[in-house]
Amino acid sequence: MLISERMEGLNPYVPGEQPKDRTYIKLNANENPYAPSPKVKAALVDFINNKSDKLGLYPDPDSNELHAAIAEMLNKCGGVLCRANVDGTEVTPSEKDKIPFTVTPDMIYTGNGSDEVLSFVFYAFFSSNKKFVMPEHTYSFYPVYAGFYNIPYDAVPLKSDWTLDTEKMLELANKNKSGIIFANPNAPSSVGLTRDEVRKMLLKAPKDEIFIVDEAYVDFGGESCIPLIQEFDNLVIVRTFSKSLCGAGMRLGYIVSNPKLIEIVTTVKNSVNHFPIDALNQIAGKACCEDTAYYVKTSRDVAEVRDDFINFLRSKGYYVPQSLTNFVFCKKEDMDGDAVYKKIKENGILVRHFSTKGIEDFIRITIGTKEQMEELKKYM
Ligand SMILES: *Cc1c(COP(=O)(O)O)cnc(C)c1O
Repeated sequence: MLISERMEGLNPYVPGEQPKDRTYIKLNANENPYAPSPKVKAALVDFINNKSDKLGLYPDPDSNELHAAIAEMLNKCGGVLCRANVDGTEVTPSEKDKIPFTVTPDMIYTGNGSDEVLSFVFYAFFSSNKKFVMPEHTYSFYPVYAGFYNIPYDAVPLKSDWTLDTEKMLELANKNKSGIIFANPNAPSSVGLTRDEVRKMLLKAPKDEIFIVDEAYVDFGGESCIPLIQEFDNLVIVRTFSKSLCGAGMRLGYIVSNPKLIEIVTTVKNSVNHFPIDALNQIAGKACCEDTAYYVKTSRDVAEVRDDFINFLRSKGYYVPQSLTNFVFCKKEDMDGDAVYKKIKENGILVRHFSTKGIEDFIRITIGTKEQMEELKKYM
């Protein structure tokens, strides 16, 4: 047989569609409607014009400047962009988001999108005899990694208000000595736990097993768990440039954790591909972090447009959980999610519909610009 046995069992992730046949307003992949900061373009142009010879050399294997820039950005904004204070180009964390220690570069790991980062985390901390617990409806890549690495898991149904059933998750984690993973805020439900609620979970979770919080959306209004890193040695936080940092095309994701766990993931990574993200991405990522003020503003704009859109949907009779993300998850009495998705698509706008049992009545709509949402309102 040509292919391996394990290949036959693969079940890859299906992303939101990226059609080429016509130009749609894309509200289906939780991308950011704003362009990256002009400083990103300037840094790339400078690199191309003045330092392009460097493309002939391997990039800095430790991504030192990028890791320092990410740590600095987190210290400035406290890990939640939309709530940070801005005074000119100076950014300071809101009272609620202050981190009680300084994030240092050795607490950062970067990879080719948080998808790749997550795959190394799964490899490092779970295996065929080391299962994990996750919510039933969460980022649909987690079960894909479970299939890839042959990891068993328990999926715990969400509560009726779409929040995590933390009691049940902890019960299973303690019973089976499992690690835990969830997105906070969660997807596609759009709601999240407070830092205090996650802290209470961490206190009751197995101390010797990993506890992973995927903060892909936290900058739009959630509460970051970065302040808990010094208190819990088993906490790994995964974040991305794809959503709040307007950089889905860059493919840049990162971990914030203690240096020991960062080293473990680095060991996995260096066993697959011993060079880090490429030189251009290191430049772009660094420039991104150096314009934190820009992203505070874009995150705030997205959150504002979101809240306006939620009010609109509710006035039209939709059920919409109060999103803390850059998307909304909504349904209406007797609504056929797939039919609504199709009707909206005919009108030139892409949203996301999942055929997954339990959420098939819903559609997930990414928050675009004010103008894009006004257009969408016509068809809702
Ligand atoms: C978008 C998303 C990711 C993936 O981000 P990339 O960095 O683009 O790979 C990871 N987790 C969640 C929950 C996401 O929504």
